[in-house]
Amino acid sequence: MEYLRVTAVNFKTEDLFEVVLEAGDVTFEPGNCVAIFSAEDESRPYSISSGIDEDVLRFLVRSVPDGSVSRWLAQRKPGDEVRVSAPFGWFRPGHAAPGQDSVFIATGTGIAPFLSYLRSAPERPPLACLYGVSLADEAFALDELEALPNFQLAVSREVADRAFYGRVTGQLESLPLRSNIQFYLCGLDVMIDEVSGWLEQHSIDYTQIHREVFFYADET
Ligand SMILES: Cc1cc2nc3c(=O)[nH]c(=O)nc-3n(C[C@H](O)[C@H](O)[C@H](O)COP(=O)(O)OP(=O)(O)OC[C@H]3O[C@@H](n4cnc5c(N)ncnc54)[C@H](O)[C@@H]3O)c2cc1C
Repeated sequence: MEYLRVTAVNFKTEDLFEVVLEAGDVTFEPGNCVAIFSAEDESRPYSISSGIDEDVLRFLVRSVPDGSVSRWLAQRKPGDEVRVSAPFGWFRPGHAAPGQDSVFIATGTGIAPFLSYLRSAPERPPLACLYGVSLADEAFALDELEALPNFQLAVSREVADRAFYGRVTGQLESLPLRSNIQFYLCGLDVMIDEVSGWLEQHSIDYTQIHREVFFYADET
């Protein structure tokens, strides 16, 4: 358990923001989370979005209506201290074995572990990356993501430049499908369930599908 100093809270929209903490001596692997504790000592897991060699830890957070920890985080200011657990978790985007490739599919703040991977191992990008958001302004780090060879943004609630109009699941036909590809899915449970089902129907073995659920649609 450590207290880490806030260096910035950068709002993307009214309820989506990046929290940046001094990394101290925290070490982690892309895909790891930490539990962040509020002043009331409630904790929730948040996935690290920074690269392993940065001297800060970055998090992408959606502030949930009536949320205990996300709303508390939204009110942090530079210089505040935040208590965090040691990094943990089994999700390892991009940790495909030699000869294996990866595909990343994210909704919302579920892009965080993929950004951590891309910032840590830029020399080994995924074969494809699909990223779904509701509104174009909600997409984080587009400058980095659009530099990838096969990146596609999906915006579901408005028509936007350079974006597919619809849900990320509307783009699955574009994915490469082979037995040496590992598929990493992160974000809302309904997207993850739908994509997993579609991949299995297209002869992708369940051992090739790796899932990290951040949010459950029936809570929203
Ligand atoms: C492994 C893991 C990693 C995660 N990583 C991230 C991350 O990187 N970024 C991130 O933003 N979140 C992430 N989450 C979600 C995060 O842990 C919290 O669940 C979220 O921030 C809500 O916590 P809260 O204390 O603010 O709300 P709570 O106090 O837990 O909930 C308050 C109310 O909001 C409802 N609610 C919960 N989720 C939503 C929602 N999405 N929309 C509307 N209402 C909701 C609840 O049912 C409840 O009624 C992750 C979750 C897991 C399991």
